[in-house]
Amino acid sequence: SGSQSRRQAINAVIGHSTPHCDTDTYIADMFGELVFSPSVMKARLPKTVYKKIMATIDNGAPLDPTVADVVASAMKDWAIEKGASHYAHVFYPLTGFTAEKHDSFLEPDASGLSLAEFQGKTLLQGEPDASSFPNGGLRGTFEARGYTGWDATSPAYILENPNGNTLCIPTIFISWTGEALDKKTPLLRSQQAMSKQAMRLLKLFGHTDVDTVVSYAGAEQEYFLIDENFYYARPDLMTSGRTLFGAPPSKGQEFDDHYFGAIPDRVLAFMIELDRELFKQGIPAKTRHNEVAPGQFELAPVFERSVIAHDHQQLMMTTMKKVAERYGMICLLHEKPFAGVNGSGKHVNFSLGNSHQGNLLNPGDTPHDNMQFLVFCGAIIRGVHKFGGLLRAVVASASNDHRLGANEAPPAIISIFLGSQLMDVFDQIAKGGATASKEAGVLELGVDTLPPLKADPGDRNRTSPFAFTGNRFEYRAPGSNQSISDPMVAINVLLADSIDHIATELEKLTADGTTFADACQQVLQEIITEHGAVIFNGDGYADVWQDEARSRGLKNLRTTVDAVTELGDADVVTAFEKYGVLSARELEAREDVIFEQYALTILVEAKETAEIAKTMILPATFRYQGELSGVSANLKAAGIESANPVLEEITAHLAELLSSLTTLEEGIKNFHGDSEYDESKYALDTLIPAMLEVRAAADALEGLVADDLWPLPTYNEMLTIL
Ligand code: ADP
Ligand code: MG
Repeated sequence: SGSQSRRQAINAVIGHSTPHCDTDTYIADMFGELVFSPSVMKARLPKTVYKKIMATIDNGAPLDPTVADVVASAMKDWAIEKGASHYAHVFYPLTGFTAEKHDSFLEPDASGLSLAEFQGKTLLQGEPDASSFPNGGLRGTFEARGYTGWDATSPAYILENPNGNTLCIPTIFISWTGEALDKKTPLLRSQQAMSKQAMRLLKLFGHTDVDTVVSYAGAEQEYFLIDENFYYARPDLMTSGRTLFGAPPSKGQEFDDHYFGAIPDRVLAFMIELDRELFKQGIPAKTRHNEVAPGQFELAPVFERSVIAHDHQQLMMTTMKKVAERYGMICLLHEKPFAGVNGSGKHVNFSLGNSHQGNLLNPGDTPHDNMQFLVFCGAIIRGVHKFGGLLRAVVASASNDHRLGANEAPPAIISIFLGSQLMDVFDQIAKGGATASKEAGVLELGVDTLPPLKADPGDRNRTSPFAFTGNRFEYRAPGSNQSISDPMVAINVLLADSIDHIATELEKLTADGTTFADACQQVLQEIITEHGAVIFNGDGYADVWQDEARSRGLKNLRTTVDAVTELGDADVVTAFEKYGVLSARELEAREDVIFEQYALTILVEAKETAEIAKTMILPATFRYQGELSGVSANLKAAGIESANPVLEEITAHLAELLSSLTTLEEGIKNFHGDSEYDESKYALDTLIPAMLEVRAAADALEGLVADDLWPLPTYNEMLTIL
């Protein structure tokens, strides 16, 4: 029976012994060993070819197709030396997951199997049967063709398996009409658009020798680990990645004893092997620690160019899941696997810069650098205000809805936190001129002689969705299971739009004879006046903020259904089209895909809720009710009249369970909508409340039914036995 499997699970967990991984090689010596990196290319490619490919990688120069044959052949030789028999174009479809199609290097010929040629054109383009990837109507099912195209800016790598290796080639994925069907294409396009505008602005600051401006991203990944025996005893975790039932544990996270606590040995062993695996792939894993909830942890890599960080992040998530299984655990990346305990986010730290100017969000040492820094900050403030709806839309999903707006994650209102030092500078700019940093006291200085700002302003605000943290911004709303592509695309686009606006204004003002310093002052003043409403340094969790934000005209988009239509906002469409990131049609397709995924996710959860209620919770409850009735009957037969309040309580909750189950099943039966939006609205308004009713009755029963009959591993068991 179900309860037996729960017992067996507990015993199996207790008997678990932690395996050891091969640690003979010192970890630093493994770094990048599976990557077709610039240094490997330098050693294996003719100098001219190497230079051409590096110009594409470093400076975004167009790829010279004639180099493809040479690179392909070197790549194949390298891969075969590394034990690869197959190659795969890896792409990132709109589901947010990673897809790969493997082909053998070997082909039959007269003498049997022999190594086929791996030509430039095979490297450059693949043609997976793409009909089963979501496309939001961009490709009729009659035209299933989609193309993958080599993304030379992201290095190829070897995917290891004990039974054989595969050469993986990062690609973009587009339809035969050239429309983007993936998360990578807009990331590359937006990077390019941002770079173009940023270089234009830098030129106005006198930097004429800049080839490119790159956006950098460092994503902090939160996750849960639970023993696999519990996982396989929880059909809800298996189908939905989250628990659809479960009473709150008697001891949750209220003692704050898990955060940064000692890492359990088994988990540490997993983390050590994980770091080794990531290092081999050239993924710079850096920080590992316990998170707030029991069973919750975090992994943060060192930031990289956002395009690479994106690919690495995707590979990191897959690797985490794989390595966890070697330790008998399941890595849960869902944003809210357990109700009532902390959810998991993926804070995206970002900055922009290039190899010879460094980080442009670093407050500089000289007044001139500082002015440039403030102008870039101004661009971000304007962008976050103008595109707040977009920033909310790109983190919308059924699972992230459980997190945003609950009092442990940033609110659904997009605002920006500057910290007191930077706030002070912008306040003074708003007042019209004299600017002094807080630390320096009340200095009356013109904007041309801004005093140095301290790189680490000290104060932190954990409740803000978009916070300045000294030399970068941290976007905290993305969910643990999400690709960082959409957030980075949004950031690149809002930067392109704002920097374009600022550069245009500066050009106009200086052409009219205003000094450059005065022009900067004027533009920043205008930004602060028009967009200062988005700056909020207070407590984002407080109820008063909801009212305050409303009076400031900031949107509070609580659910995916409210948020995603922001992709169709006129400002968003105009900017995406103007900077060539996504067409109106491509944006609309993305909107449809998110709605479709949202509605399907909830429909699957609703079905699973009904099934578990019927096949696991009802039987356990009936058994116990029967047992209690038997006791009452026996007592009565023995002449003892005694009320049984437990039996009465169970009977009452059972009635609730049965009636809410009927409502849920009706809801599932009537699931329909004329559009993806309508289906989502139905899921939100009808299915979610019905599921919650069923859960409430079942969770109440969990506290009443005899423990030896209860079929599902409890929150206590799953979160604390590792
Ligand atoms: P915290 O938890 O204090 O926010 P972490 O050390 O967990 O900080 O994570 C910070 C993340 O920010 C790391 O991924 C780090 O590499 C990244 N980061 C640091 N500097 C920059 C920068 N200039 N641009 C982008 N990301 C950065
Ligand atoms: Mg952190």
